[in-house]
Amino acid sequence: MTFDSNPYRKDFPILAREVHGKPLVYLDNANTSQKPQVVIDAVDRFYRETNANVARAVHSLGEAATSAYEGARDKLARFINAPTRDEVIFTSGTTQAINTVAYSYALPRLQPGDEILVTTMEHHANIVPWQLVAARTGAKVIAAPITPDGELIVEEFVARLTPRVKLAGVTHVSNVLGTVNPVRELAKACRTRGIPLLVDGSQAAPHLPIDVQALGCDFYALTGHKLFGPTGTGILWARKDLLAEMPPFFGGGEMIRTVSFDGTTFADAPHKFEAGTPNIAGFVGLGAAVDYVNGVGFEAIGARERDLLAYATAALESVPGLRLFGRAKEKAAVLSFLIDGVHAHDLATLLDHEGVAVRSGHHCAHPLMQFYGVPATARASLAFYNVREEVDALVAAIAKVRKLLG
Ligand code: PMP
Repeated sequence: MTFDSNPYRKDFPILAREVHGKPLVYLDNANTSQKPQVVIDAVDRFYRETNANVARAVHSLGEAATSAYEGARDKLARFINAPTRDEVIFTSGTTQAINTVAYSYALPRLQPGDEILVTTMEHHANIVPWQLVAARTGAKVIAAPITPDGELIVEEFVARLTPRVKLAGVTHVSNVLGTVNPVRELAKACRTRGIPLLVDGSQAAPHLPIDVQALGCDFYALTGHKLFGPTGTGILWARKDLLAEMPPFFGGGEMIRTVSFDGTTFADAPHKFEAGTPNIAGFVGLGAAVDYVNGVGFEAIGARERDLLAYATAALESVPGLRLFGRAKEKAAVLSFLIDGVHAHDLATLLDHEGVAVRSGHHCAHPLMQFYGVPATARASLAFYNVREEVDALVAAIAKVRKLLG
């Protein structure tokens, strides 16, 4: 099977491989996306030609490594339209980004009775860090409900923004339902009440142009490995005034101004939040990923993904006994589903034998699974490099599984 209709596929070497003797049909992009050759090359070239630690060395390699690493920060700052590059903190991913806000921003502020508002559709990364700091302070985490179609009930979110709420968190795009949340509207409601809003952009960054200034949020987290970059990379963007007030979460080298046994003074953001040797090659790779995505352009990405979503939705709806979760009007190309009488894990295992990679499980979203009353779903998540023929392959593989089990 070749998928020549999509000119971008050839940029991703792994897409040419086979699994169990069948062409790979990779539909697990919400979990992690594949990497284009330019990203692989950037990481490879860094280790071959430039490798040195950043910020510490004045020798040529040290300077080149620092400039490549800091150059990636400039690219990321432009990618999300941050007002300044100093507001972009490199993290290992969204999880570390949200934990940084939980421990550096929320923990020192929370008092007994305070609340952190999230939504029913959050990933555990946007629930558990808040619960950990709530448990230490006597605060609690509350959630705004969603409709059965998987849309946030905005009035219910706004109604919960009482003076007890010290911070709100919402996912930009749901990793299970694909729902695109109305972040601008939510940010406006938070802003008028003086409540900072954190947006989990893990699933948005590969699909939508991100403009943190236009969104009007206060914190924005994203993951590099879903954005066609290396694993172990991500960013936290935060408003400069908030970063200035936040004590560091990790201490160590590279984040200080002066250290003595009488006390330590800290560097300014972003370095205050980047203790120790970072994933330098990873961020160089992430910079290359951002260049690559900009080269493809979100117009092309959006057009391809909209076509795939419409095609895949119609194709899956035609499968007898298939239940689709997530029918939001604004939706990314993520399709969660169950088939009558077939466990999601069995389905994913059998689909793998046909070369089709989908995720099965709770998708780190237990509260959402509880809302739908299911332990798990299967999930096909698409990227701009997927093609309609892969959706056909998924549907054909499902038909085979149903025959086998029926
Ligand atoms: N939030 C969402 C919506 C996600 O989908 C994920 C990854 N599945 C995360 C947060 C966590 O990202 P990471 O594991 O890269 O830190």
